[in-house]
Amino acid sequence: MYKKRGLLIVLSGPSGVGKGTVRKELFTQPNTNYEYSVSMTTRSPREGEVDGTDYFFKTKEEFEQLIEEGRLLEYAQYVGNYYGTPLDYVNATLDAGRDVFLEIEVVGAAQVREKVPDGLFIFLAPPSLSALEDRLIGRGTESADVIKSRVTKARDELEMMNLYDYVVENDEVHHACDRINAIVTAEHCRRERVEKRYRQMLEGEC
Ligand code: 5GP
Repeated sequence: MYKKRGLLIVLSGPSGVGKGTVRKELFTQPNTNYEYSVSMTTRSPREGEVDGTDYFFKTKEEFEQLIEEGRLLEYAQYVGNYYGTPLDYVNATLDAGRDVFLEIEVVGAAQVREKVPDGLFIFLAPPSLSALEDRLIGRGTESADVIKSRVTKARDELEMMNLYDYVVENDEVHHACDRINAIVTAEHCRRERVEKRYRQMLEGEC
């Protein structure tokens, strides 16, 4: 009998674009219909962060053991720390027919694209490059050289947009959340995703 597998939803985008804020807002909404995959990291917990809720906090040795045992769907280093997605949790949740939501940086998202080509890849983008630049300049904390290198990095990260299915502009957090929910709903109706079930229905299997 046909068993529906959940959808793997990946939200990624340039650093500083507001991925974490958008993800947290999505999961405060009562109608959120997907499960957040809590990542593993070697960075230290920030004030108020809870092990198992915000991240699974690991030592470098523990994390490298997970890599070695192939227990991560993807992993990357970001500002000197490891971050990765637990493979068992993702598989078990998808197998149970529930959607899984990952909020990860771009290097890890590229690995997931390779391994799970039928996932849903959403790129969160700044309203414009100049808005990102203005934000960096406006902070007034970085030297001109640092701002230049940040902008160059942001440009490179924006180039990675072509690995994604959808681009969501983060002009306002609640608008970005509405767009993401609309994309997920539409994706469930995509012909390629539903036709297998109907084919089996036509063949009298369900
Ligand atoms: P933070 O330290 O600010 O919580 O996260 C730093 C960056 O790591 C953010 O861009 C966040 O999206 C990313 N990140 C969080 N979890 C994962 C993960 O499991 N894998 C990857 N590749 N990146 C992650």
